[in-house]
Amino acid sequence: MNPIEVYKDIKEEYDGISPSMCVLKWYHLEMHLSTGQAHSCYHCPQEPLQLDQDLHNTDSKIKQREQMMDGERPDVCSYCWDAEDSGAYSDRITLTPVHRMHDPNVITTTATKDPKEHVYPRYLEMSFSNTCQMQCTYCGPEKSSTWEQSITKKGEYELSEYENYHQYNHWAKRLYDDENNPFVKKFMKWFPEAKKHLHTLRITGGEPLLHPQTFQLAKEISESEEDRLKLGLHINSNLSLSTRRVSDICKYLHKIPNSKIYASIDTWGTHAEWIRTGLHFGQFQQNIKTIIDHDVDIGIMCTFNVLSIPKFKEMLFAILAMKKDAVGCGENEMHDCVVALDTPYLTTPAHLSALIADDKLLSELEDTLVYMLRNTDDMNPTLFNSGEYTKVKRVYQWIKRNRFTGEELKRHRKDFVKFIDIHDKRTKSNSGKWHKTFKDLHYFYEMCNE
Ligand code: SF4
Repeated sequence: MNPIEVYKDIKEEYDGISPSMCVLKWYHLEMHLSTGQAHSCYHCPQEPLQLDQDLHNTDSKIKQREQMMDGERPDVCSYCWDAEDSGAYSDRITLTPVHRMHDPNVITTTATKDPKEHVYPRYLEMSFSNTCQMQCTYCGPEKSSTWEQSITKKGEYELSEYENYHQYNHWAKRLYDDENNPFVKKFMKWFPEAKKHLHTLRITGGEPLLHPQTFQLAKEISESEEDRLKLGLHINSNLSLSTRRVSDICKYLHKIPNSKIYASIDTWGTHAEWIRTGLHFGQFQQNIKTIIDHDVDIGIMCTFNVLSIPKFKEMLFAILAMKKDAVGCGENEMHDCVVALDTPYLTTPAHLSALIADDKLLSELEDTLVYMLRNTDDMNPTLFNSGEYTKVKRVYQWIKRNRFTGEELKRHRKDFVKFIDIHDKRTKSNSGKWHKTFKDLHYFYEMCNE
């Protein structure tokens, strides 16, 4: 089955049980130990972990499972409902194949369980700390120590809308340092049993490759014959680090059959450097090459935002070159790995979301979609597959259906301008660069400022 047929099949299987069921609510956990927070997937709001409660089967999650089995849509999953209402496949569908690959009957067996039954996650994404050398525009102090230092030393970002500024200015009250974190202790006690149930462990950050625990875990898994074959290790990275660090982690990952590095980048070249403040684009490209040289799979993680649009086609073009290289059709014929593209769309903060786009930007994206379709073929690994294409099409459909209008649009566009002005002044690597970098968007900036 090609990816589209898989999605169709999964949707039909869910619909036969409940139109709002999602196995991620049972088997997917994303946990951030530095803030003591967790959620069932990164689209749902985070909840504080409690030291006297289970790390995974929380009361609210059990209630959401019950709602799903009753055919109700839990509010926390609005990301998926919005995508589905615009006629697209949501992540409820597109993130299920990884669970079905390891357990073909996962949907039906989960449906027979009492929603209250305690289960262990099978896919765990987690971060140990917020240590990060970058200050990406849509991030904040909870996920980046550079953001934390910036706000602490230089003060808050003065935007107008609470929903736009709160992630920069009001971060979790509980921000534990690495040594004195009670949740790290609780996790370490829980993990040996939990590990037996996992098919995938994904380390996120902060920047995981700045954290010694990431290398320790990779070493341990790669050296244990049982774990190495059973447990997939995936690592998120901004790849704006020394080649030595990337090469060191690849040496472990190369020994783990199901391993992958998710490289975060949202568009191409200097545009990407402005969005992901602190990114050294040349270093990023060098590190991609290093990963391919070690035959480790790469997932390009594009958090699609309004500034992704102008150079998105250029990024697709570059990914096609990477795909060729990865399967041995480039300079080095010995390569044997996969480069895949994933495109979740940014919903918060709203002032950077593509929902503030105008008709011109939307039609640019439509044109890019046509280019992508021309380069999509499930039988050819040097081109995009239908799953990758469907996800970009979903972004387009979501924008088209949900673009802000009226006063709401004006307010978020005003904050877009304010953010550019503040961020351009406040950050060393971006200093005054927005207008030079995004020349094609001057008209848009002026329009947002009216
Ligand atoms: S937001 Fe979507 S993918 Fe995440 S748990 Fe809810 S329904 Fe599942």
